[in-house]
Amino acid sequence: MSWTERQQAMLQEMGIRLWVSRVEDAPDGAAVPQPQTQTQTPTAAPLGPRPGGVEAMDWPALQEAVSGCTACKLCKGRTQTVFGVGNPRAHWMIVGEAPGEQEDRQGEPFVGKSGQLLDNMLRAVALTRGEAAPAQQVYIANSVKCRPPGNRNPEPDELAQCEPFLIRQIALVQPKIILAMGRFAVQSLLRSSEPIGKLRGRVHHYQGVPLIVTYHPAYLLRNLPDKARAWDDLCLALDTVNAVPAS
Ligand code: SF4
Repeated sequence: MSWTERQQAMLQEMGIRLWVSRVEDAPDGAAVPQPQTQTQTPTAAPLGPRPGGVEAMDWPALQEAVSGCTACKLCKGRTQTVFGVGNPRAHWMIVGEAPGEQEDRQGEPFVGKSGQLLDNMLRAVALTRGEAAPAQQVYIANSVKCRPPGNRNPEPDELAQCEPFLIRQIALVQPKIILAMGRFAVQSLLRSSEPIGKLRGRVHHYQGVPLIVTYHPAYLLRNLPDKARAWDDLCLALDTVNAVPAS
């Protein structure tokens, strides 16, 4: 495969090495899944209902509702909720899975190594989570807002309880494109349990918004060959959003 200089520069931004003859046994700081050794302090605190009227909330009300939410058992182990970050009118919305340990500590989605990779991927297509105009600054949110203990996968009831918050975030942002990263984002938005590999490579829609399925950066850190596929997904998203008529 041949690459233009621009493509090579972008792939470098994403940490993709060209012409690698073998997979090295120490991928670039790949995060190793944490053994689930963390024990949770049992608590008898009852779960509460999710705040009503989420579908009509503005940003401050939504943020407040999330920060006080006790609708599922994930509230018991969190340090804080992880609401979302970025431009509230962003053209691009990135939807991930669930906060990890560092996100829980910092209150921001996609931090640490997978966050760095996401930032590099975004930079490769001239996007950022930092201050910028809506066409350049993305909005990032997770499917669930509280950290699952021991970094386990979010459970179906937790995804279901948290889903109205994500739906409202999407409705408020009104993105031109959604990048769904990882299978729980896909489950939430597309109602599909198909593997990512089968869903990526084409344009889906969520509530009329084009949606591209791609791998979660944490997965990419452990599966270097799939970074090239993630690059293809980004290019597809870029082509798709560029084809959306300006409003
Ligand atoms: S994960 Fe979502 S539904 Fe569960 S407690 Fe946190 S904010 Fe509420």
